[in-house]
Amino acid sequence: MLRRERNAAVQNNPNTTLVTPIAPITTATHGGRAKCLQRLARLELPVPTTVALSFDSVHKIASGHLPDIEAILKQFPQDALLCVRPSSEDPDWGGPSAILNIGMNEARYEVLCGTLGTDSAAALFTRFVQSYAIHVDRLDPDMFDDIAGEGPAALADELNAYEAETETPFPATRAEQLAGVLKSMARAWEGTSARLLRQAKGAPLDAGLGLVIQQMAFGVGQGECGSGVLQLVSSKTGMPQITGRYLRQSQGRDALRADAASLFITRDPRGPSLEETLPDCFAQLVSHAQLMRAKLREEMQVEFTIENGELRILDGVRVARSSRAAVRIAVQLARDGIIAREEALCRVEPNTLNELLHRQIDRHAKRDLLGTGIAASPGAATGKLVFTANEAQASAARDEDCILVRRETSPEDIRGMHAARAIITERGGITSHAAVIGRGIGLPCVVGVSDMRFQTRRGQLVTSDGRVITAGEVVTVDGTNGTILLGAPEMLEAALDDAFQDLMDWADEVRDIGIRANADTPADAQTARNFAAQGIGLCRTEHMFFDAGRFTVMREMIFAESSDDRRAVLERLLPMQRADFIQLFNIMQGQPVCIRLFDPPLHEFLPNDRNGQRELAEALDLPLSDVTRRIEAMMEYNPMLGLRGVRLGVTVPEIYDMQARAIFEATIEASRDGDPVVPEIMIPLVSAKREVELVRTRIDAIAAAVSTEKGATFTYNLGVMVETPRAALRAGDIAQHCSFLSFGTNDLTQMTYGLSRDDAGRFMSDYVRQEVFVEDPFHSLDIDGVGELLKLGAERGRSARPGITLSLCGEHGGNPESIAFCRSAGFDYVSCSPFRVPVARLAAAQLAIASQIE
Ligand code: PEP
Ligand code: MG
Repeated sequence: MLRRERNAAVQNNPNTTLVTPIAPITTATHGGRAKCLQRLARLELPVPTTVALSFDSVHKIASGHLPDIEAILKQFPQDALLCVRPSSEDPDWGGPSAILNIGMNEARYEVLCGTLGTDSAAALFTRFVQSYAIHVDRLDPDMFDDIAGEGPAALADELNAYEAETETPFPATRAEQLAGVLKSMARAWEGTSARLLRQAKGAPLDAGLGLVIQQMAFGVGQGECGSGVLQLVSSKTGMPQITGRYLRQSQGRDALRADAASLFITRDPRGPSLEETLPDCFAQLVSHAQLMRAKLREEMQVEFTIENGELRILDGVRVARSSRAAVRIAVQLARDGIIAREEALCRVEPNTLNELLHRQIDRHAKRDLLGTGIAASPGAATGKLVFTANEAQASAARDEDCILVRRETSPEDIRGMHAARAIITERGGITSHAAVIGRGIGLPCVVGVSDMRFQTRRGQLVTSDGRVITAGEVVTVDGTNGTILLGAPEMLEAALDDAFQDLMDWADEVRDIGIRANADTPADAQTARNFAAQGIGLCRTEHMFFDAGRFTVMREMIFAESSDDRRAVLERLLPMQRADFIQLFNIMQGQPVCIRLFDPPLHEFLPNDRNGQRELAEALDLPLSDVTRRIEAMMEYNPMLGLRGVRLGVTVPEIYDMQARAIFEATIEASRDGDPVVPEIMIPLVSAKREVELVRTRIDAIAAAVSTEKGATFTYNLGVMVETPRAALRAGDIAQHCSFLSFGTNDLTQMTYGLSRDDAGRFMSDYVRQEVFVEDPFHSLDIDGVGELLKLGAERGRSARPGITLSLCGEHGGNPESIAFCRSAGFDYVSCSPFRVPVARLAAAQLAIASQIE
């Protein structure tokens, strides 16, 4: 049992401290495990005697200065065996493996042969020799391969093998053994590979290691002996469910070995259980676990040993948990009044919500990896490979799940994308077409797959090890981590349960920046609403033209010879657009809807292969040569920097005219039975204030005309999308003509770096690996460069027009670090893909809580 006092020299030594309820132990000096053991001691749980070594002490050991080993050993009975376990500040940072049974030697072996029986004693000693040889002396585990059987003969062979290999006898005294273990653990922590591993898990450079030296509670011996673990909730779901294992005659975490003949913890039709066999121990364990939950304010797994019928608690570790369980555990602790709601909010990593919002591959499922790329849209889906958008639609018509493979997607593929379960592209980055659409509609997507050959004409993919996967074969796309797998591994369904809803409601109570969604279609808008977005921050209207019935009309409009012809075709698009907007306004029920006027270059709507061009010639009743000539004439060397966005609004104004009319007519219609709708109209790709003046004049005129024609009044807000560096620099001029500025960080990043968002995927991983960029700037907002433009633009915009609404609507909008940036720059809201909205709501809440604490 933990004793309160034995030796003041150790008790009061800040480096080697006997764990008692009042000892000076903190997580920051002795690590999480030492602190947890002290908490268990305070709860008066039956924890064996433990001495904790501080980070300092372990650091000194690594540089050759051992603490007073004899003083430490005095804390334990003379014949007690000991174990040493790591105690880092954060258990996720890892640490060396635990070493059990320190103190085993010939003399102890003889005694234990009498008490435990020869075989058990030999098994303990054998195990210790092996782990000492491997972990302390760093000998090759193979050296024990030839030793057959168990028992005393095997033990003797092992000791001989050790002696032959090291040319020294196996250390005989407990002090010698303990010193060896401490030195090896301390050095292992300072080694390069351990350092890199923990840094990858977020540990600081100077992260320390503490060690705990604990008296062994025997799980082997006479009477009822064994060891096991117990927890009160399921690690998979977080729901109340007592789970664990107990293995008779075992130590450590042996009970969890897959091949162990462990008992179930609770009654189970499949076999005997601890609950039936040892009801008293079971009841005590459950009550200890409940006490730990209440007092340690966390769902804990109890590690226990039963020694001759008596229960010992060796340790408590945070229950391992899926993302779904993490949410339920945090929420349930708050509902039970054990932690505050704010704390529950801070305990869930926002990005892990992605795993709840989408289907995921079960962590334990077998994976047959075919290729990897950029994880562009989270979630996982299984289906048969198809290589064209038409085949995807045909599969959907047959009710067959399919995965669409393209070199890259274009607006032509949009219907196929809607029909597919997931998308894979050879090219592209995090803001390429496939990625943006995928995230918008919640479709798993992996882009920039550079380690497979795409032989799309032949309908096959070739992996780096030469496997050929052909159309029709079943693959699974994991868009959460960017992998493509063969077959259909087991999946976990999305889990938007009551715990998730509560967490989201609590987040909304504390957050202080608005969260809107980028939504283009009624389905997107519905998702945005379901996730409680506070409106639509970006509706990319061009996506509305990709529908079957509109595509050809759109092409006809592009081919129109004169302004009047164009206007006539647009007349046919007008009711369709109006209907789209009415639907959006109705779904959003009075929430703001920001509609961006047409943005892409027109030739994105034109076919680039011969077949498509022939079909178009037929549809428009034109000679094929006319069609190809017109298409060629419209081609641009640099379409992203060409005739698009407001440049179309200025040079081909009929399109914006039609859109403005559709918006205003929809406004009147949607305001009929409810609160008045106040649409927001946004002009893309602005770089000069004159562009805004020109477009504004026409839109104002159309608003006046619609108002007169319909005999109805309405208001609207006109805003500018700041996505060229010049617009950010001249935001002061531009702000004079509009009521909001929304920063489009996709194009702004592209133009600030001079880096094509569609091509960067090809070399981005090299750039990140060689630390040219810390992260893909299309994925993670470049605070230093693009961020400076955002700040400048915001400041200049605000000083020209105080109270102007500021927001960010690029793909960065849902990332916690961008939200932190926007919040500190005083932005009113961020807008992100509908499926990112919950992540953004939680991240914003955490930032607000953190700023209250500061
Ligand atoms: C942007 O450029 O940041 C943006 C949101 O617009 P798009 O991705 O449609 O170019
Ligand atoms: Mg843009």
